[in-house]
Amino acid sequence: MKLTEHFQYGLNSPICLTWELTYACNLACVHCLSSSGRRDPRELSTAECKAVIDELQRMQVFYVNVGGGEPTVRPDFWELLDYAVEHDVGVKFSTNGVKLDPARARRLAGTDYVDVQISLDGATAPVNDAVRGPGSYATAMRALENLASAGFGQPKISVVMTRQNVEQLDEFKAIADKFGAQLRITRLRPSGRGADVWDELHPTAEQQRQLYDWLVARGADVLTGDSFFHLSAYGSALPGLNLCGAGRVVCLIDPVGDVYACPFAIHENFLAGNVRSPGGFASVWRDSELFAELREPQTGGACRSCGHYDACQGGCMAAKFFTGLPLDGPDPECVRGLGEQALAARTPSTAIPRSDVDHSRSAPRNSRSAVALTLAPPPRRPDRACDASPLAGMPSYP
Ligand code: SF4
Ligand code: SF4
Repeated sequence: MKLTEHFQYGLNSPICLTWELTYACNLACVHCLSSSGRRDPRELSTAECKAVIDELQRMQVFYVNVGGGEPTVRPDFWELLDYAVEHDVGVKFSTNGVKLDPARARRLAGTDYVDVQISLDGATAPVNDAVRGPGSYATAMRALENLASAGFGQPKISVVMTRQNVEQLDEFKAIADKFGAQLRITRLRPSGRGADVWDELHPTAEQQRQLYDWLVARGADVLTGDSFFHLSAYGSALPGLNLCGAGRVVCLIDPVGDVYACPFAIHENFLAGNVRSPGGFASVWRDSELFAELREPQTGGACRSCGHYDACQGGCMAAKFFTGLPLDGPDPECVRGLGEQALAARTPSTAIPRSDVDHSRSAPRNSRSAVALTLAPPPRRPDRACDASPLAGMPSYP
């Protein structure tokens, strides 16, 4: 069996596990996939987080993507980071940089098995701050400077591609090069508060093509995860995870311990269980009915007859779900324009699901319009198979 087929049917442990440690955040990004802002009083305690790390170690989960909210605003964040590293669970954490002062940067530079990803959604302050809030560009730049001065080896700069920043791809690359960082670009999905702004902010069809061409020409060392496999339908397959791995190789543990099929699918339909239940995370991952269903062979539905299906696989489940499109039909950003047609064919009675998990401090929901902002190389590195290529670092199967 080919390795990609192993992925389709699920693995004993997730290789792309995201763990959101808190819903608290100092920012209020308009497209936040988890609608973060306020801490949830039910969030896992320090002891419960350590128990989850113990379990991940037993399951041989080699690294975890830690996010939030803003994970570093948890007072026990640094303690949990050290605990994970001591227990052979590498950590790549996403941050807006608010806590990365020179001292923290030096400490991180001296810690193996930790990777840092700074979020930046504009190569200039006006473009970034329109999405992430006033002052957030300066905060991210300061954090990158502190990491560079401390000698931290190759942090990541993570960019959500929007209609406003596709034109800045070369500038993002230049910023990454300047700080000795690696660029990671991801897709804007209509998840969380992203649902409110997706219509206005997701790249146009022309920009999708521009993005694809840029990745083909300049993207050799740019990370994309599973963001753009639907664009492979334009021609050659892009590097990255070329399938929807939800529930198969991908999943999310949210701050209250709920386990979802994917970080972009925080909705009861994709809720598989909770790490606090008997058997913990391992039992949810291995035994949940939802994950068993997602690991079944997919029919491809309306996309099956498309000549691009092998490359595109019908696109992203979450993008379809949160735009009210059938899960077995085209992606809303289908390169053949079939998604746009399906979106246009929706009627006022079409049900467009929304997550009922919302910790926004003050967010108008269902506004469907952009909202104004209210802000105030170590020896061992984490395996980043899901970022670079599903085959990276994995054994080959006959
Ligand atoms: S639903 Fe979309 S974001 Fe989630 S694993 Fe599938 S392709 Fe990736
Ligand atoms: S019809 Fe489906 S498989 Fe074909 S390009 Fe569009 S989304 Fe992809």
